[in-house]
Amino acid sequence: MHFDRHSVDKDFISYAPGYFSGTDISQWNDHSWQLKHRITSLTQLEKHLNLSSEERNGVLLSGTKLAMAITPHFLNLMDRDDPECPIRRQVVPRIEEALEGEDEMADPCGEDAHMPVPGLVHRYPDRVLFLVTSRCAAYCRYCTRSRVVSGAGQQELDTDFEAAYQYLEEHTEIRDVLLSGGDPLLFTDDKLERILKRLRSIKHIEFLRIGSRIPIFLPQRITPRLCEMLKKYHPLFLSVHANHPRELTLEVKEALERLADHGVPMGNQSVLLRGVNDDVETMKALVHKLLMCRVKPYYLYQLDLIRGSQHLRVPVSKGIEIIEGLRGHTTGYGIPQFVIDAPGGGGKVPINPEYVLQHNDKRVVIRNYEGEVFEYPETSELKTTPLEPAAKIDCDC
Ligand SMILES: *Cc1c(COP(=O)(O)O)cnc(C)c1O
Repeated sequence: MHFDRHSVDKDFISYAPGYFSGTDISQWNDHSWQLKHRITSLTQLEKHLNLSSEERNGVLLSGTKLAMAITPHFLNLMDRDDPECPIRRQVVPRIEEALEGEDEMADPCGEDAHMPVPGLVHRYPDRVLFLVTSRCAAYCRYCTRSRVVSGAGQQELDTDFEAAYQYLEEHTEIRDVLLSGGDPLLFTDDKLERILKRLRSIKHIEFLRIGSRIPIFLPQRITPRLCEMLKKYHPLFLSVHANHPRELTLEVKEALERLADHGVPMGNQSVLLRGVNDDVETMKALVHKLLMCRVKPYYLYQLDLIRGSQHLRVPVSKGIEIIEGLRGHTTGYGIPQFVIDAPGGGGKVPINPEYVLQHNDKRVVIRNYEGEVFEYPETSELKTTPLEPAAKIDCDC
């Protein structure tokens, strides 16, 4: 397959069967078939793509770092001949992953230091991140948790479920639990339901969310049965992860619509990546397609300082420029919050373009998206004129 690098993939298209012609359609639509036929070796990958030497050497390296896995569904979105294809850059390893930038770390967000119990990250006052698995349907090369994800790296995720439930029961200030990993939707319906049911048995937990890229990597997994199960545990939100408009295929749209029809509110978390989505036009096309799928763009992340991710990093100023290119220019619902997850464990910090030109106790001077300047008086300076006493109204009520 060959894609025009400069077209913005505005339409919801099915790319199946693509590289997998001859595959029975019922097999293609079966998520177990997709998982079983993931591309995990150099030989398999070379059957479909013309690899660059950077990619070939990257694949060989991945076995000792972060495993390679690509679902047939996702492979179909790749350009056969272009190593700079925005889909390839996300999941095909490159030798640049062996380069370590000066400030890069194994655990850039300082999660391990914030685990009161193995697998449970408690950083914020009222909510926790619960890492329930180390496996994903496919592996993003810039994974913030590559130290524990996929099984190929040095460290292992060693979640202690019983200890985690006990911690959650004891900590009545926790009202929000975010299931992540790895990808929780890789569990069977029954296994996932056991976790949700257990969490729902804890009275002070109000809000549940799942972070998952499965709707994008493996839309076949979003079965009516899964959606019926999830529906029993509302309010349950889902954060998906799409970076480029081409990822929103017809099958992905149908999967997202199925979730929305079962009352699951959805947000999208994108990571700002060089050569993938580091321009306004691509990001605008992405957020428009997300809105069409009833997904609210939630966060745009500056890439964490993960080891070997320099080739995918762009300056923070680029993220600000993208937000500035969206705000006012398109639907407010389509604008994600750009954040830096503070290195070392400070949590997510919002980064915004500067719209406030001056602010003192008398006034705030602001500019709009077109650069026009306006002034708003500070409340202490508001001049009030006493209102005329209202005319007396006779009323029997
Ligand atoms: C991102 C994150 C959350 C959730 O943050 P929100 O801003 O509420 O979406 C919670 N805990 C940890 C450790 C996180 O990294």
